[in-house]
Amino acid sequence: MDTVATSKHILADRIRQLAREKNAVILAHNYQIGDVQDVADFVGDSLGLSQQAAKSEADVIVFCGVHFMAETASILCPAKKVLIPDLDAGCSLSDTLKAEQLKAWKDRYPDAVVVTYVNTSAAVKALSDYCCTSSNAVRIVESIPAHKPVLFGPDMFLGAYVSRVTGRKNLHLWAGECHVHAAVRPEDVEKAREAHPGADFLIHPECGCVTSCMVYLQDKDLKGKDAYITSTEGMVRHVTSSPKNQFVVATETGILHRMRKLAPGKEYFPVSDEMECKYMKMITMEKLWRSLEQGIFEVKVPPEIAEKARLPIERMVAVS
Ligand code: SF4
Repeated sequence: MDTVATSKHILADRIRQLAREKNAVILAHNYQIGDVQDVADFVGDSLGLSQQAAKSEADVIVFCGVHFMAETASILCPAKKVLIPDLDAGCSLSDTLKAEQLKAWKDRYPDAVVVTYVNTSAAVKALSDYCCTSSNAVRIVESIPAHKPVLFGPDMFLGAYVSRVTGRKNLHLWAGECHVHAAVRPEDVEKAREAHPGADFLIHPECGCVTSCMVYLQDKDLKGKDAYITSTEGMVRHVTSSPKNQFVVATETGILHRMRKLAPGKEYFPVSDEMECKYMKMITMEKLWRSLEQGIFEVKVPPEIAEKARLPIERMVAVS
C-alpha cells in the first residue's frame, strides 16, 4: 500500500473509532466523495438519510451532506446533536427561495396551498403546507383540491414537469434552479444516449439537478424505452439487478462511486462530467474527523420554526 493509501486508511480508522466513542452515526449523501461514503454508517438520499436519523439510537448525527439536510434531521430528531462538518456546505437551489420572498409570494395568493421541494431552508419549510421530493411531487399536487391555487417552488423545472403531468392551470411556479442542474442540457442527454445506444438511461428525480431532463423525457416520450426516472436508491437497485452492463447516469457524479462498489464490472457513464455539486464536495475526511473530535458544527433549528416545519416534512415522508 502506498503512503497516501495508508494515511487515508489511518484517518478512516480514526473516524470510525471516534464515532464509536461518541456514540455517533455518520450519514453520507450519495453525492459525497467516495472516501466519505466508505466511512459512513449509511449512504443514501436526503429523505432516506433523514429516516435513518430518526430511527437511530446514536446521541450524535454527523450529516455529510448539505445544510438543509442537516436541518431536516435536526427537526426530525430534536433530542439528538446534529453536526455538519462544513457550515458552508449550502445548496444553490435552496438559496433561490428565502423565507421573506415566500412570505411576500403568499401575501399575493392568500388562498393558495404552498408546496416546496425538500431542498429548502427550515424557515421556508415552516411557511409551507407540504414539502415534496421529485418522486412524490405529482402525487402531492394531485391530492390538493383542484380549485385551490398552488404555489410551487423553488425548482422551476420540477414545477414545469408537475404542471405538465397534472395539467393543472392554477400552479404558480417560483423561478429557482440548481447550478448543477443548469450544467446539463437536453443536447447532453441526446449525445450520451447516442454514444451508448445499448445502455439503460437512469435519471434521478430527487435532487433538482435533472428536472429539465424529466421535462425533456416527457416531450420525447422516452419513458419505457430503456429510460428510467427513479430515485438514487432506485438507480442503485436498477444497476445491481439489471442484466444490462452499461448505464448512462443523469445525476450528480458522486453516485457512480456507490454504483461501482455495489455492482462492479459494469460500465457507468455520467450524462455530463460537469454534474458535480461543489457544496457536496466541501465535506472532506479531515473535516469529518474534526467535526467528530470537536463536536462542530452543530445545526439547530429554533423550536418555533422546527415545530412549524415538522408538519410539511411529515406529510412528505407519509407520501414517500
Ligand atoms: S446538487 Fe444542486 S440541488 Fe443538490 S445539493 Fe447541490 S446545489 Fe443543491
